Amino acid sequence: MLLLGMAALFMVDFLQLIIPNLYQMVINGMNRGVVEVNGQILAFDLTFLLDRICMPMVGIILAIVFGRFLWRAMFFGAAIRVEAQLRNEMFDNARRLSCEYYQVNKVGNLMSLFTNDLDTVQECFGWGIMMFLDTLLMGVLAIVKMWRMDSVLTLLSLIPMAFLLASATVVGRYMMMKWDVRQEAFSKLSDFSQESFSGIAVIKAFVKEAKELIAFKCLNLENEKANIDHTRASVLLRILVTMFVESVICVILGYGGYLVFQGRFNAGELVEFIGYFNAVVWPIMAVSELIDMTSRGKASLERISELLDAEPVVRDRQDAADLINPQGEIRFQSLTFRYPDGEQNVLTDITVEIGAGEQVGLVGKTGAGKTTLVDLLLRIYNVEDGMILLDGKDINSLTIESVRNAFAYVPQDNFLFSDTIARNIAFGNNGDVSDMEKIELAAQMADVNDNIREFSSGFETVLGERGITVSGGQKQRISIARALMKDAPVLILDDSVSAVDSKTEKAILQNLRQIRKGKTTILIAHRISTIQQMDKILYLENGHLAAAGNHLQLMESCAGYRRMVELQQLEEEGGENHV
Ligand code: ADP
Repeated sequence: MLLLGMAALFMVDFLQLIIPNLYQMVINGMNRGVVEVNGQILAFDLTFLLDRICMPMVGIILAIVFGRFLWRAMFFGAAIRVEAQLRNEMFDNARRLSCEYYQVNKVGNLMSLFTNDLDTVQECFGWGIMMFLDTLLMGVLAIVKMWRMDSVLTLLSLIPMAFLLASATVVGRYMMMKWDVRQEAFSKLSDFSQESFSGIAVIKAFVKEAKELIAFKCLNLENEKANIDHTRASVLLRILVTMFVESVICVILGYGGYLVFQGRFNAGELVEFIGYFNAVVWPIMAVSELIDMTSRGKASLERISELLDAEPVVRDRQDAADLINPQGEIRFQSLTFRYPDGEQNVLTDITVEIGAGEQVGLVGKTGAGKTTLVDLLLRIYNVEDGMILLDGKDINSLTIESVRNAFAYVPQDNFLFSDTIARNIAFGNNGDVSDMEKIELAAQMADVNDNIREFSSGFETVLGERGITVSGGQKQRISIARALMKDAPVLILDDSVSAVDSKTEKAILQNLRQIRKGKTTILIAHRISTIQQMDKILYLENGHLAAAGNHLQLMESCAGYRRMVELQQLEEEGGENHV
């Protein structure tokens, strides 16, 4: 497409440079009554005007119109394709990146890459390439024609142009720097807006609207200042260009007039020379635009490249094998873990085995390391070799996909998509909503079926931004239904029944016992009552495994566990007395 566009552009430029020659013929014809064409002297009459001026002019104009259409279609078409492909590649890499990347890079920043920066690159690719080629082609062609007419006049005209290029390069560098600052400021603004809108309920509850507004205004001011700096440089560049172009006109009129006065140039030739120069004015003007555009495009492309070049921290080893027919047997072997940016170990020397089909409860105070432990199982972070074994195989020797496929997970934040409830639940099963019976069964097992039936659109109810908001407990249960849809060898529930009442909790636990019989289930909970019945309870204290065993064993052997149970009993009794 670019080659075809270039050919069309070349044709247009070539034809445009024939027009000044026609001017010359008309003016000289009017002055002298005869015209010299390729050494022949012809009479300047109506036939000449029609055959040699008007007809070719019509042909040239038609061809120019067609050529312009063609290069626009080709250059802009190519730019749109490049943008679409780049966007796909960006998304493709973004989805492969580890969670760590998203903890450092905020959503607002990423969004501005996908909108603002991508637009800039697209503009640079379409308009930018076109302008660059046009400047080059038209500039060279016109200068050659000018040179043929009078080399001294051409050289004199080019001197201001050299100054222009030198100063434009310096200003261009400065503009690129300023664009980078501007994009950073815009990213910050977009991060801030995104967070404010997401946390609007908290902001309102704490009556912090005014504080938010002031913070927003500060960021916006930063953005405005960066914008003004960039625009100032851009205006300066434009003024420089205009100044140099005007000074060339002075040179041509001055020295060209002198040549006419000396008889070395006639009036028609001077008009022709000015015509050629006029043809280069636009490309020269475009130089400033081009420098502005490429400086912005380069800065944006660098930001995009950072995303494209970012490597996932957690990735498959070259010799990684798939976990085939997983049984759900898990072994932690002296597992010690520290977050990449952390200062101390979050988990220390954990050694325990979870047998295939075992129902395991994971308890401990907030911050004890429960979520971290299951995150490591799901390979959200890297662990050292030999510290976690799945079915007897080192987790690092297995492919991430096959490991994650062996798990169904109910995360703590219960994120649901802005989609129908049916699709949200079916997400656990490749998003296939054709088997409504299975979806309903999963909802029943998560004890949320009745709630869903009460919504006027039932399972077709749209959740989230575009639809209704469900309660925390309903969210948790839809999230559980989604995980149950997967029917994986290992099910992990991270504090997933904390927002439901004890009757519902009992029903869900009862269902889980029934459908997860013989399949490994790990339940993280705060309430002892939730995990009391489990085959095995792991009690974590400050990242250490303080005890492992069933409820009765822990009550006997682990003072920390016993204290926790007693405290919770007291709390419950206190709550009941209070009621
Ligand atoms: P629990 O699930 O038992 O409440 P977590 O596993 O969430 O505990 O957290 C254990 C510890 O790890 C806490 O001290 C917490 O501050 C820290 N932590 C959690 N996530 C991160 C993270 N992404 N980076 C650094 N430290 C973290």
